[in-house]
Amino acid sequence: MKFVDLALAPELVRAVKDLGYEEPTPIQRMAIPLALEGKDVLGRAQTGTGKTAAFMLPILHRLRPEGDGVRALVLCPTRELAIQVAESAREYAQHSELWVGCVYGGVPLRNELRDLRAGFDILVATPGRLIDHIERGNIDLSGLEILVLDEADRMLDMGFRPQINEILRHLPKKRQTLFFSATMPNDVKSLAYESLHDPISVEAAPQSTTAEGVEQFVYPVDRTQKTDLLIELLGRSGMESVIVFTRTKIGADKVAARLKSADIAVALMHGDRDMKERVRALDAFRDGKVRVLVATDVAQRGLDVEGISHVVNYDTPQDPESYVHRVGRTARAGQTGEAITFMSPSEIGDVRSIEIHIGRDLPRVELPGYGFGDVSEETVSMPTRHSARPAPGGRRRGSLSGKDLSPEELEKILKTG
Ligand code: AMP
Repeated sequence: MKFVDLALAPELVRAVKDLGYEEPTPIQRMAIPLALEGKDVLGRAQTGTGKTAAFMLPILHRLRPEGDGVRALVLCPTRELAIQVAESAREYAQHSELWVGCVYGGVPLRNELRDLRAGFDILVATPGRLIDHIERGNIDLSGLEILVLDEADRMLDMGFRPQINEILRHLPKKRQTLFFSATMPNDVKSLAYESLHDPISVEAAPQSTTAEGVEQFVYPVDRTQKTDLLIELLGRSGMESVIVFTRTKIGADKVAARLKSADIAVALMHGDRDMKERVRALDAFRDGKVRVLVATDVAQRGLDVEGISHVVNYDTPQDPESYVHRVGRTARAGQTGEAITFMSPSEIGDVRSIEIHIGRDLPRVELPGYGFGDVSEETVSMPTRHSARPAPGGRRRGSLSGKDLSPEELEKILKTG
C-alpha cells in the first residue's frame, strides 16, 4: 500500500514523499482511513511506529485552512514529546496552509502568549501549561474539532489525570478524539472510556514485542565495572549515536561526568535539568554534535531522534515494559540498531523478567576482563548459559571504576566538560 491509496490530500502525500516515507507504517494504514472518516480511534502504539503521522495527517486533511482559532489539540506528557510532535506536524504541514503551535511548561508564559495571539489551527501542549493558558483566558477551545491524547499512559503515570479532566471540561462534546497509548492498564482504559465516543481500536504491534531489526544483547558485568565497560564499548566503531539509560538522576550525572573525564562528549537529560538544558542536550544529540546522550526514563518515550545506532541500558530496567520502550528508541522505521543491557549480579532477576515479558532469551556477551567474578547466574536459578561463567583472566579494574565522585568533583567535571 502507498500513501496515495489512503486518499489523503495531495499536499500531504507530497509532504511525506519529501520526507522520504515510501509507504505507510501498519498503524498509519489502520488508523488513517478511520480518522479520515471522522471516527474516534483508540490506538495502541508506541513511539517509533509512526503514530504521529497516523493522527497528524488526518488532522491536516480534515481541517479547513479558512477556519478560525484552535481546531485541533494534541496533548502530550512531556515538553520533549510536545516539541517533537509539533516539529513533525510542521513537516507534514509544509505544503498546507495550516499553522502549528506548541506550548509547554518551563518557559515564560509571556512568550507563548504572543504566539497564541498570532493564531494557530493546531496546538500541541502539555496538560499543565495548557490549563495555565485556559485559566488566564489566553486560549479559546470552544471551536475545537479534533482532540488527540498522545501517550495517554505516560500522561497518567505523570499524574496528569486531574488536568486532563479539567481540559476535557473545556472542550466541545461533539468532537473527534484520537487516543494513543503504548499500554492499556485500567486507568488508561477508564480515561479512554470517558473521552472517546464509539471508538475503533487499532493496534500497531502486539504489546511487549520489541522492534524488529534491533539486535539485543546482555552483558554480564560487575556493578563497579559498568563505566569501564561502557567506555570500552563506546570506543568501538559503529557506536555513532548512543543513548545510555540510567535508573537514577544521580546515576546519569555520574556516568556523564565519567565519560567526560574520559574525553567523551555527552549530552545529559533528566528530570532535574531545566527546560533550556534539556532542549540544548537534545539538540546537541540530534544534530550529531555529541554522539552520546545519557538519560533517565524522562527521555524514554517520545524521544524522536533519527538514526540511533545503540541503546545502552546502563542499569537494567526494573519494569519490562520500560525495556521495550527503551529498546524502541533504536532501529526505527526500517533502520537497524543494537540494544545492550548491562546486567550486574543484582539485576539477573530483572533481566529474566524482561525475557519472560518479551518471550525470548537474550544472548549473553561477556568481554574478557568483565563478568561476574564468582557470582554466576545459576546461583539465582537462571537457565544455564555458557556465557554466564566468569571470563578467563578474572575481573579487571580500570582507573575510572570503583570509586564514587564527591559532589564537588562531579560539579567540577560537569562544568569543565
Ligand atoms: P513516531 O512513532 O511518530 O514517533 O515516528 C517514528 C519515526 O518514524 C519518525 O522519525 C518518523 O519521521 C518516521 N516515520 C513515520 N512514518 C513513517 C513512514 N511511513 N515511513 C518511514 N518513516 C516514517
